[in-house]
Order: sequence, then structure tokens, then C-alpha cells
Amino acid sequence: GSHHRPMPWFGMDIGGTLTKLVYFEPKDLDGEEGEIIRNIRRYLTKNSAYGKTGYRDTHLQVDNVVICRRKGSLHFIRFPTSEMGNFLSLAKAKGMAELVTTVCATGGGAYKFERNFRDEVNMKLDKFDELDSLIKGMLFAEIHYSTECYYFHSSSASPARRSAESIINYEKKLYDFSQPFPFILVNVGSGVSVLAVRSPNDYRRISGTSLGGGTFLGLCCLLTGCDTFEEAIQLATKGDNKKVDKLVKDIYGGDYEKFGLPGDLVASSFGQMHLKDKKAQVTKEDLANAVLVTITNNIGSIARMSAVHEKIDKVVFVGNFLRVNPISMKLLAFAMDYWSEGEMKALFLQHEGYFGALGCLLEFNE
Ligand code: ADP
Repeated sequence: GSHHRPMPWFGMDIGGTLTKLVYFEPKDLDGEEGEIIRNIRRYLTKNSAYGKTGYRDTHLQVDNVVICRRKGSLHFIRFPTSEMGNFLSLAKAKGMAELVTTVCATGGGAYKFERNFRDEVNMKLDKFDELDSLIKGMLFAEIHYSTECYYFHSSSASPARRSAESIINYEKKLYDFSQPFPFILVNVGSGVSVLAVRSPNDYRRISGTSLGGGTFLGLCCLLTGCDTFEEAIQLATKGDNKKVDKLVKDIYGGDYEKFGLPGDLVASSFGQMHLKDKKAQVTKEDLANAVLVTITNNIGSIARMSAVHEKIDKVVFVGNFLRVNPISMKLLAFAMDYWSEGEMKALFLQHEGYFGALGCLLEFNE
């Protein structure tokens, strides 16, 4: 509408692991507003503004966006939610608190940290529901950026001929998501939520699991001694789950033909680790890979059952578990394609972890 909120516009999604911050920087400035925006700009483009653990994802920045008839750029910033105390101290020290009076916020942390924002930096949080925000954000992004949605294309002709090995050759391709409904939305954050979305205002949370991105990171840290997500993914990239898992062929000596289960299929995740000699041969890379494959396949299975149950063939995966994680994306693409015999499609979005924060910024201006 024409009565938009006073600048600046921030949207914040305070999740169980990461806090995501989206900032709309108007480029059509005038007067007093201009002064504030220039101050924020100076702050935003300085790395020191983020402390040791904050990052601005510059590769995700989008220019020439129109929100409420204002034209500008969207900036994407994240930091660990465990650093909220430092974030608030920094915001205070840098004088941000005087420039910003109200921030719209979503995620559990919008409730958990509401008092800290008020008492420590005198900022008011305008709270929105995280799933409402998530859908609003992803639909806006899809309409506004033509390069947002993609899928993985396999060059093999029939799903039956594709094997888990061939996923290395998957090619990333743009997908035209201009007719999105209906679709299944799988948000893989610390935990997992599965939604059936039939129109912008008609959605239900139909499933979920506590075995999510937080489980991958937690188990990986325990099993390999690593301590960051990036490290965990690096290890997983160099490992082989077949040394850890029990495969169909470890049990049958080959395929389980009666039910069409290929020998290379995992029959039991971590199913070899009770054997002393197998355990002795396993590396931390193999363990990291096995955790990644276990968590990813479980999510894929829940997503696929949800899609079958709702009779929906498009499944969109979002959330920061997919950040710098092509192994999981390709595994999900393969699993959807293979088990549905080519009927279902796994879709991914460029701004994967930021839709809650973006949607909350948009809701704030409605
Ligand atoms: P939440 O809102 O629950 O924090 P996110 O969508 O932000 O959920 O995803 C959090 C998950 O993303 C983590 O559990 C982890 O698997 C993964 N992840 C990606 N990048 C990072 C990072 N830099 N630090 C911690 N976890 C990360």
C-alpha cells in the first residue's frame, strides 16, 4: 500500500541455529531518511560490523527490487544465534540502536530474545509467524527473480537406468516456477518442517522430523571431532558411506530382486559399525558422509511420502542445511526421481535459508 512503514526496513529470522537478517536498502533517497540510510550503508559494507561470526552473503544480494513502490537492493546477513549477546552489544556500540527503532522478527528467537532487544538496545520487535513468513518470502522471491529456482538434471533417459553413482554428473538447471501451486515445501533447518502449499494463503504443516540439519551437525561433531558446518561438509565430501552402512548386497550378496531393491541401496544406516574390523577401517570422512547420507535420505523419504499422500508432484527444499551442500541436494533430487519413477521433481531455491527473514520484512510493510 502507499502507507508504508518508515525506513529502515529489516527482516530478522532468529532460528534455533542461525539468525538471518535481510535489509532493504532504498536507492531513491531524499532528506532526513537519506542520512539514516547512508549511515546504515557505511555500517553494512564494513566487515567489522559483523564481528567474528557474522557474514554478509554478497553473492545473494539482489538489486533493483521494488517493495511498496520503493526501489532498492536486498542484502542478506547471517550469524549464529548463540552470538545474539555479542550482536546486541555490537549494535549498541556502533550506534545502530539510534537508527533503528522497530525490527520485524520471526522464528522462535523473536519470542526468546524479545526482552533482550527491548532492554539492551531499546528496539521493539514486531513478531510474525515463521511459516507464514517462509511462504511469503519464497513466493516473492520466485516472482521477482527469474533465476531463483533450479533442479538437477540427469542425462540418463529412464529413471530405472539412473543409479546413485550417476548423481555426480547431475547438472544444475533453471526451473520455471511461475505456476508454483500446489507444491510441497520442505524446510530443513535445525529441525525439519513439511508443508503442503495450495495457494499463497492456503497451506498446512503436514509433517516434520527432529532429525534435521542440527542432527547432522551434532552427530558429525561427536563422531569426527570437527566443530563447524563447513568442516563437516568438507569431511563428508571426501568420505564413503558404504564403508559404514550395511547395503542390500552386504545382506543378499546382490540385488533383492523380488522387490526391486538394488544391491547398492542402504539397508541399514551405520549397520556395519558393530563389526570390529569394519570399524577399524573407517575414517572420519566416511563417518561424516554416512551421517549426511542418513539424515538426507530420511528427509527425502518423509518428503516423498508427504507428496504421495497429498497427490502433489513438486517438492521444494529450502533451509540452511542445503547451504554449500550439493551432496544432499543431489541425493534428494535422485531419491525423488528414482522412487517416484520420474513422477516427482525436487526443486531448490538460490536464497535457500533467507525466506523467513525476507517474508517477515514483506509482512511488516503490508
Ligand atoms: P534454524 O532457523 O533452525 O537456525 P536454518 O535454516 O538456518 O535453521 O538451518 C540451520 C542448519 O543449517 C544447521 O543445523 C546446519 O545444518 C546448517 N548450517 C549451514 N551453515 C551453517 C553455519 N555456518 N553454522 C551452523 N549451521 C549451518
